[in-house]
Amino acid sequence: MDKGFIHIKGARENNLRNISLSVPKQKITIFTGVSGSGKSSIVFDTIASEAQRQLYENFTMFVRNFLPRYAPPHADAIENLSMPIVVDQKRLGGGSHSTVGTITDIAPVLRLLFSRVGQPFVGNSNVFSFNDPEGMCPECSGLGKKMGVKADSFLDKDKSLNEGAVQVPVFAAWENAMYQGSGLFDNDKKLRDYSAEEMDLLLYSKPLKVKMAFGGGEMNVTYQGVIEKFTKAFIKRDLKTMSERTQKKVAPYIGLQECPLCKGARLNQAVLNCRIAGKNIAELAALEVTELISILKDIEEPIAGPMLHTLKERLQHLVDIGLDYLSLDRETSTLSGGESQRIKMVKHLSSSLVDVMYIFDEPSVGLHPRDVHRLTDLLKKLRDKGNTVIVVEHDPDVIKVADHIVDVGPHAGKRGGTIMFEGSFEGLLSSATLTGQYMTQDAVVKKDIRKATGFLPVVDAHANNLHHVNVSIPVGVLTAVTGVAGSGKSSLIHHAFLQQYPDAIVINQSAVGTSTRSNPATYTGIMDDVRKVFAATNQVSASLFSFNSEGACENCQGAGVVYTDLAFLDGIKIPCEICQGRRFKEAVLAYTVDDKSIADVLDMTIREASGFFQQKEIQKKLKALLDVGLEYLSLGQPLSTLSGGECQRIKLASELHKKGSIYVMDEPTTGLHMSDIEHLLAIMNRLVDAGNTVIVIEHNVSVIRNADWIIDMGPEGGHKGGRVMFEGTPEALLKADDSLTSQYLR
Ligand code: ADP
Ligand code: ADP
Ligand code: ZN
Ligand code: ZN
Repeated sequence: MDKGFIHIKGARENNLRNISLSVPKQKITIFTGVSGSGKSSIVFDTIASEAQRQLYENFTMFVRNFLPRYAPPHADAIENLSMPIVVDQKRLGGGSHSTVGTITDIAPVLRLLFSRVGQPFVGNSNVFSFNDPEGMCPECSGLGKKMGVKADSFLDKDKSLNEGAVQVPVFAAWENAMYQGSGLFDNDKKLRDYSAEEMDLLLYSKPLKVKMAFGGGEMNVTYQGVIEKFTKAFIKRDLKTMSERTQKKVAPYIGLQECPLCKGARLNQAVLNCRIAGKNIAELAALEVTELISILKDIEEPIAGPMLHTLKERLQHLVDIGLDYLSLDRETSTLSGGESQRIKMVKHLSSSLVDVMYIFDEPSVGLHPRDVHRLTDLLKKLRDKGNTVIVVEHDPDVIKVADHIVDVGPHAGKRGGTIMFEGSFEGLLSSATLTGQYMTQDAVVKKDIRKATGFLPVVDAHANNLHHVNVSIPVGVLTAVTGVAGSGKSSLIHHAFLQQYPDAIVINQSAVGTSTRSNPATYTGIMDDVRKVFAATNQVSASLFSFNSEGACENCQGAGVVYTDLAFLDGIKIPCEICQGRRFKEAVLAYTVDDKSIADVLDMTIREASGFFQQKEIQKKLKALLDVGLEYLSLGQPLSTLSGGECQRIKLASELHKKGSIYVMDEPTTGLHMSDIEHLLAIMNRLVDAGNTVIVIEHNVSVIRNADWIIDMGPEGGHKGGRVMFEGTPEALLKADDSLTSQYLR
């Protein structure tokens, strides 16, 4: 056996057709191929899964009892594996106590720095943590937020007091007028220009005696901050003593709010008074990574030398990977899938492990073409440290850096599962596979663009980093929103646009269902029609053919699997012994249509079903699924086993018949091969041609080239972004000099 390779023989997981291959060690190997061809079945379900299993075999029986159990993959042999580290796009959960700083291990070093050189010195490094009882803010227990009044719903920060900036619906008119009449403020100053002190006075001031101008004279009144007054009137009072009407009126204004004591900094005042370079630890953690690095560079403290070095090095990793626009205090739960995956990479860059097998799932997701080289540099760095790097990827710029390429195909599902090509990038280009063909195709931008039938204005958008921008989204055309990661695309579309146009339909990649009972047939409504066909043909009740009914197998209640909870292990699912996973009672399976039982129908692929059923309703729904390229899925495949891209396409399929709607899609090309993207573009074009408006956030150049209208955000990420760099047609974008996207389109 050649020790320079991982050897896989006779792999048969999912749709794999008894394939054998060798993956070179300490090299970058990229797996590509159409969606559903079997890339994940090789990389995750065979290679990673077996490596994990072998790793666990090394542990004692006692320890193994606490670990998840892996069944060996369906393969004859998998040899010469290294320790696996899977870096996937699963979002980082972890609640509000998990931040970019904690997950990258940068926060503890920053705390250590404060405990050594912070002025004045307050204690050991633990007190700088909002997870530590000694450090946390006593008001909010380190959460930074507290149940309280939603100040934002009373204030219009773009107005001055004279323009009516403060309006509390449950206050009397004269109480609202008090803010203007108090003489405490500049009544023409817009609230957004208020200093922290002025805002504090407006919101939280304790009762003050002031003279208020009134009917030509003056009147003595008690001034109180908006929140202070509201809290006393409605929150500190026992809710039960209020009338139901008042309770209903007040409820919408109460929710999780920034903590009034620490203002979201999460730490107590003693800790917040400790500073380095004039800033406390919360202020440093709120800076974008690049700003933080430049402050750290100016600190000269011999005793802190090693700590400063480590900090700068780890922060630089965040920059290297294109996350320079994040701040350490950003909660990990608010990061996108692509950002989460890149954050996980940062951890491994600082690690000194060698001979590890790193496995990545489409790491280019969310990256602008300009930043893809940062990712490829990183993959090369990991390899050059002596690791094996395995990547599932569709982006030609990433595929280019591979030492070895495996192209899986030719199509999806049962029509895939074979290896079409193994070798170098040059070899791939001259191969006749789908990937090879698409790589060598010439690209042109769309010229015959559609004309908008109107515009949807988005006015004064200022969510996150947006600089009070105005844009117009054209109606009845395909619009692509582009820009580097962190430039403000999601803030513009998901916050600003959707707030102003809440009826728009968002088609994202989130799971369509986690229950083992939902599948493509139930999700699209085909199952109801199929049940009617079975009922009519056999002269029995349609409900018999539902796995939530009396017709379902009694042992598994129609799930097909039996879930066993084990005391110390993750629960396991085993196929039901009574129905053998067929989910129905024997008696129900005896009813057939053209010799097929209801279980046989659920086993059919969508392509097979469309040849089997001639009924118009069923045909229509199957066609929608065929049109989005999901012909290879079986009608009964649990939705929980679908990939993000497949979930997105199944949602699309159920929307295809609507007219006059607005659709918003966020990186719909994720998980798609170049040939799948062609499919997707055809679907988007059909939606638009049917009279809908489609807005996509995209980095994929083929999609951008085929849009009717482009809105380019930039110029950079974070506070250096948030502006509209370009609005217009793809042809006009080619001529725009200051747009980064333009350079990559050319
Ligand atoms: P790729 O990674 O190339 O998109 P996959 O390896 O995920 O493809 O899938 C290959 C085929 O196996 C597809 O038809 C897919 O629907 C099917 N498949 C994947 N996972 C499962 C599963 N857990 N149960 C049944 N079929 C599956
Ligand atoms: P894009 O979609 O172009 O990648 P985003 O709109 O997600 O950009 O982000 C724009 C800026 O807003 C970035 O600096 C980002 O860190 C910040 N941001 C986005 N979402 C949040 C959030 N939930 N909380 C705080 N800041 C956010
Ligand atoms: Zn607090
Ligand atoms: Zn059963």
